[in-house]
Amino acid sequence: MAIQNRTYRVGDVTIQKVLEQKLRDVPKTFIYPTAKPEDFEGITTQLAAEDLEENREDLILSVHTWVVRTPKHVVLVDTGSGNHKQRPLNPSFHEQNIPFLERLRDEAGVLPEDVDYVFNTHLHVDHSGWNTVIKNDRWVPTFPNARYVFPRVEADYYGSPASHNEVNVPSLGVFEDSVLPVIEAGLVDFVGPDGGTYLDCFKFIPTRGHSIGHMSIQLASGGETAIFGGDILHHPIQVLRPHLNTVFCEFADEALASRAKILRKLAEDRALYCATHFGGSSTGYVALKDGTYTWTYA
Ligand SMILES: [Zn+2]
Repeated sequence: MAIQNRTYRVGDVTIQKVLEQKLRDVPKTFIYPTAKPEDFEGITTQLAAEDLEENREDLILSVHTWVVRTPKHVVLVDTGSGNHKQRPLNPSFHEQNIPFLERLRDEAGVLPEDVDYVFNTHLHVDHSGWNTVIKNDRWVPTFPNARYVFPRVEADYYGSPASHNEVNVPSLGVFEDSVLPVIEAGLVDFVGPDGGTYLDCFKFIPTRGHSIGHMSIQLASGGETAIFGGDILHHPIQVLRPHLNTVFCEFADEALASRAKILRKLAEDRALYCATHFGGSSTGYVALKDGTYTWTYA
């Protein structure tokens, strides 16, 4: 599938998507439970073929990893949902067996031991799964030579009973099988609450709300920029209707404010947006036109 192998260049850094899975036939009203019928009026014509099923109603979503190659390092941004994880309350991600590591090798030429850094925008079920694999009944780091980099506040929260609440049911168990093993292996560089630069060309930008310490990651090289937005946006619908949070957004008001901040930045900077759940190429550009945002796939 050629589309998965498309490589984007930002200065002297390349970006490539490796698919874990597509999520098909997802009802809009499930993802956006607070939406009113008028929120979806006229929206279909503004969406691309890769955004909607043939019925032009249900959503297509993707779960994937971004492979980022700087002149010196191989970096993965977000790691999907992983294999063999027990998610009985979340059937989409329960006991999966997906040849993701084979795709990483065949499509991006990356073996687990080649990975220098793993960045997690946040520690939800579909962003940290491939942090670990199971070996001899134990969860161990998938990428043994990598530094794993993620917000400290995420680890503190999901490692505490405070996170065992209704909105977080989809990610129950994730801390124990996908986060704690890399912490215990001494492989984690925690990002503080203010974010900051990392490896010169990356910057962690606090975008709290979808989760307690969610961060977006900016890449800048050669005068060009890209932003990996994690779950600031789940689907292009939210570029067109930024007031819609998803069913998975834990802190609603802050999620709205963070989405507004990143959309404004994307439009002003003309940055390449690398989405975690958009279909198609999952990359594109946000523009501000007559007071509303538009989305165009790259
Ligand atoms: Zn997600």
